[in-house]
Amino acid sequence: MTTNQRIAVVPGDGIGKEVIPSALDVIRASGAAVEFTLFDWGADRYLADGTTIPPDGFQMLARDFDAIFVGALGDPRVPTNIHAKEILLGMRFKMDLYANVRPVRLLDASLCPLKNVAPEDVNFTVIRENTEGVYMDMGGNLKCGTPDEVATQEDINTRKGVERVIRFAFEYARANGRKKVLMSDKSNVMTFAGGLWQRVFKAVAKEYDDIQAQHMYVDALCLQMVREPRSLDVIVTNNMFGDIVTDLAAALQGGLGMAASGNIHPGRTSMFEPVHGSAPPIAGKNIANPVGSILTAAMMLAHLGLNAEAQKIESAVLAAVRERKTTVDVGSSLGTRECATWIAETVAR
Ligand code: ATP
Repeated sequence: MTTNQRIAVVPGDGIGKEVIPSALDVIRASGAAVEFTLFDWGADRYLADGTTIPPDGFQMLARDFDAIFVGALGDPRVPTNIHAKEILLGMRFKMDLYANVRPVRLLDASLCPLKNVAPEDVNFTVIRENTEGVYMDMGGNLKCGTPDEVATQEDINTRKGVERVIRFAFEYARANGRKKVLMSDKSNVMTFAGGLWQRVFKAVAKEYDDIQAQHMYVDALCLQMVREPRSLDVIVTNNMFGDIVTDLAAALQGGLGMAASGNIHPGRTSMFEPVHGSAPPIAGKNIANPVGSILTAAMMLAHLGLNAEAQKIESAVLAAVRERKTTVDVGSSLGTRECATWIAETVAR
């Protein structure tokens, strides 16, 4: 008898509360041997009783679950965004989910804002360092609010942190039949941090002579993503650059509503979330695109070894895109629920 794999589900705020239940329906339709436990962490809960995540929340997730599926966190009623920081950045940092994997795949030429680009021209993956960099919130202000104010924001790069994410990128390339790993930084200006990334990248690349190692400054990479996305394969970069280039990458595949991601520490409970945020302006209107969450669900199932179910879901999404059974942000007319139902029914067939 197979035991169900346990998935903790945090729909969160805004459109997360619409797209995650839709994606769960699609997972159920795939017949995957999984069971869900829902958590109400998010702005409503925070405003009701001050809870962001319970004190033992991260230990409980790591101990009791095989994966975590998160929607989005962020709500205008919580201007500090404290709950989002504690829950989302908490999972990334406290559970040490150091590799943020963001596949970038164009499913249909009509979704790409670039001219003369075919689906096979946009098919790469960005691996973003997820636990260091400027996101560590180290820095300070001096003479705050005066004309002499000084602000500093530290960029933290540890040898261990840089090495493990670069190694992850090479391993990912090998495991996924990719041929190239491109490290992107700004080492011409950020010489200390960039210098470390450069040295570590060169050293680790020597261990992977089957994979071509390349380097590109991040500004040049942005140009390349638009001019020749076909040349890209696996990209590894720091937390901040990864955040920025993956929004650009999302645009190449049809927008934020189409993009999936996983926050991974091999061998540990990992977390999967669509790239988009809570999108308050469109929340509660049944117009959010559920595809990013549905592709994220497929990514999570593949990570759990449920490859056949993941494949079925990806094929159904591809069919939905081709037959225009999708939402308004990608030029079709279905609502969130109707799009997800079409995909779930296709998966079940
Ligand atoms: P947060 O603060 O939680 O990151 P945000 O509104 O700043 O939220 P996003 O949620 O990432 O950032 O979205 C920015 C805009 O992109 C949205 O207002 C919306 O117009 C569009 N968008 C994002 N996700 C989707 C989606 N799933 N479907 C349709 N449009 C989307």
